[in-house]
Parts: sequence; C-alpha cells; structure tokens
Amino acid sequence: MNFTIQNVLLAVEDDYTTQDVQIKDGKIAAISKGLDIIGEAIDGTNKLLLPGFVNAHTHSSEMWQRGIISMYPLELWLAELYDFAPLDTERVYLSALGTAVETLLSGGTTVVDHLVLIPQKEIETIAVAVEAYQKVGIRAFIAPLIQDQSLGAGIPSGESEVTHEDYFRSTQATLEIMEEAIDKFHKPQDGIYVALAPTGIQLCSDALFTGCIELSDKYNLCRHSHLLETKAQEKLAQEKYGCTAVEHLDKIGYLNYRTSLAHCVHLTDNDINILAETQSTVVHNPLSNLRLGSGIAPILKYRQAGVNVSFGCDGASSNDSQDLLEAIKIGSILHNVTDLDYQHWITPQNSIEMASHGGAKGLNLAEEIGSLTLGKKADLVMYDLTSLSLLPRTDPIGLLVLGRPKNVVDSVWVNGKQIVADGQVKNIKVEQLRQELFQHSQWQTKRKSKTVKEFEAHYRKIMGL
Ligand SMILES: [Zn+2]
Repeated sequence: MNFTIQNVLLAVEDDYTTQDVQIKDGKIAAISKGLDIIGEAIDGTNKLLLPGFVNAHTHSSEMWQRGIISMYPLELWLAELYDFAPLDTERVYLSALGTAVETLLSGGTTVVDHLVLIPQKEIETIAVAVEAYQKVGIRAFIAPLIQDQSLGAGIPSGESEVTHEDYFRSTQATLEIMEEAIDKFHKPQDGIYVALAPTGIQLCSDALFTGCIELSDKYNLCRHSHLLETKAQEKLAQEKYGCTAVEHLDKIGYLNYRTSLAHCVHLTDNDINILAETQSTVVHNPLSNLRLGSGIAPILKYRQAGVNVSFGCDGASSNDSQDLLEAIKIGSILHNVTDLDYQHWITPQNSIEMASHGGAKGLNLAEEIGSLTLGKKADLVMYDLTSLSLLPRTDPIGLLVLGRPKNVVDSVWVNGKQIVADGQVKNIKVEQLRQELFQHSQWQTKRKSKTVKEFEAHYRKIMGL
C-alpha cells in the first residue's frame, strides 16, 4: 500500500500546483515537489488529484426501478416503489455493485446506503450489500432503512379519521435486528460501517428513534434519517407533535455531530439554528427533490448558518442515476435562482469541499478522510484532464463541477488501495455486471401500483389538489 504519484495537479487556495504525493501504509505521508519514490511510481502528469467524495444518501436497490416510476410526489412514488421492490438478495447484491461502480466513476470513494431490507430476510439483505461493497472496495456505510409504522401513516390524516394497519414487525424486533447487524457487520477497519437509520418521522415512533439513539451511543455509530422532504411531512409533523419535526427530533435527542439528515427541504429559520447548534449535517439530494417535486432545499441559508452540507444522489429511482458529479453540479447552481446576491452562491471550490470534507464530517470521519492532508487515509480520486469533456484546458475544478464530465475518473484509491485504474474498476468485471443487470430485468412501461390506487384520493384531498 505504498506508492508515489508524481507530477500531479493539486488544488491550493484559488490556484493549482504540480506536486508529488507519497502514500505510505494507506495514508498520505508527504506532499511536495521531487519526492523520493516509495513503492509503485504513478504518473500524474496532466491529471488532477482530489479527495474522494461521499455519496451521502442513496438506496442501492432502487436501481431496479430507475426510469420507470410515474411522475408522482414522494408519498405516491413510495407506494409504487414498494409495490415493485425486489425481494431477492441476488438483485440486492447486483444493485449494490452497480451503485458502488457508478459512485466510484463519478468521483465518490464512500457511499451511504440507506438500504431497503427484504422482509424476513433482513440480515441476509445487509450481508449481500456488505459483500458487494467489500468486493468493489469502496468505503461503505450500511444504514438499514427501518420503520415501525405502515406506509399510509406517512400521509397526514387532516380532518378525516384514518386508521392504519400495524407494521408487520415490532419496534423491539427491529432494534434487535439492528443490534445483530452491528455485531456482525460494523467493521470500520475493513471500511464497512453500520449506521442507525430510521426512515423518518413520517413512519417511525419515538420508541424507534430512542432505541436507535441508545444503540448509536452504545456503539459510537452514526445516525441518519430522511427529514422534511415534502410539504406533506411538514403538515404531518404538526399533526403528530404540534411542533416542527426538527424541534421534536431535538427534544428527543436524535440530533448531534454524528447525525446526517437527507433532504431538509421544508425547515424554518429556528429549525436551521437547531441544526447548526446540534452540529447535524444536511445531505443535499437536489435531483431527487426536483424529480419528486419536493422543493428546493435552502442550502445557501444552511451554509450561512454554519450547518455542514454534503451531497447525495438519493436512490436511483428518484434521480434516476447515481452520478455524483451530476448531483454536485445541479445541487450547486440550483440555488442561484433563490438568492439574487451572487456573493452567496456556491463556487466550484465550495462544491468540492462540501462533497469531500462535508461528506466526511457528516459521517464523523473528518479526522480520517475528506482532504489531502498529511496523515489522513488515502481515499483519493485522480481525474484525467486530457479527457474530451475536460478540454480545452481552462479551470479543472470549474469544468469538473460545471461541465458535463464523462469518463474522467482515471484512478481511485480507498484506504490506499487502488480500486480503479486506467478508468477501469479493478476488483469486479463490469462487463459481467452489465450482462447480469440485463438478464435480471426486462423492458416495461405499463404497470399499475395497487397502493397508489388506495392512497391517491386521500392524498389529493389532504394536499388540496
Ligand atoms: Zn432517500
């Protein structure tokens, strides 16, 4: 795990410099000009080296439904999603491989998989996802998606008396599954982390949140959740708690420096202050928020309030891809229309910092990864600046963020191990993955969701449509 990258372009304060980078025992040991070569010598000429990004929120098995779900808002979209969710671990394995590959080839070295569990096969589902990520070599947080209320409970009831069927598994049984998962799979030294991830206030009781807080404290694990993704959830929080969802999560103690929250579209100014005070991280999923009509998260406000922000692709059926560079681009320039003062806008350098350091911080790993700093683990991505989409030569980071980079990732290292070389993933055969994805699927355009039919009239009424 020793190597030396020679003559590679690095970003420094508003400029670039060509240097050598020495990696020793998986860590960044030296950055300077004319360093002695230790281990393998790697030619970095005309290449840009950046810290790896974090794909800070996704759901890998949604890959099986990318491009097909109807144009629905989240609540109906979820109903369709779950009616057709894959129920075999073979597919979960393949979509985790696919998610890892697409993340790596768009600049990511870490993925947070808010993993949908197959009922009755929960531990097996986690096991195959872990296997896939270890096989590829990407750093992975497995955040099993848990809830203890049935899907209908996620829609506000309004004036009507609505009762929901019980969720099929008890809160206690779910927490037991989580403890078993932690025991079996949480191995930071191998790059696999388990996180506690109740899906959100819309489908989880306080008992489930509290149980997750206890497990996260007991094992020092990260906490994750969806938060205030839609207007319906904002309404629901008032119905359930008589206050905002952020105020409630703060009251029960869910928010802290190890907590990352996906979406955060509908927050009040007071909510934003709470996130800043508790040092919680917002995971920005701009493409999903657009696709589902959820809204534009007030990211400029978060940044001004000192809230840490990172980027996520969100699951591939609300995106409908896993291209981290695309999420970073849209998630950066989207906000220019929300604030006339261009001095508040996110610059390409800000975007890179949010995607790398911001991502690491949200996972409580800022001391270990997220920047090219001596002593940090070598989670690195090297971009080929001679790629057609990065030419002609202008500002490499400007073009990487604002352009439409295609096939630009030359090499990727995670924990000092090279897992992409010459643009090719090393540890799996991507050609074989391509064939398997083809064989396990078919073209289709006509399918009807039973649950959408059940929910739609009530949803339209409650939302005033
Ligand atoms: Zn999500």
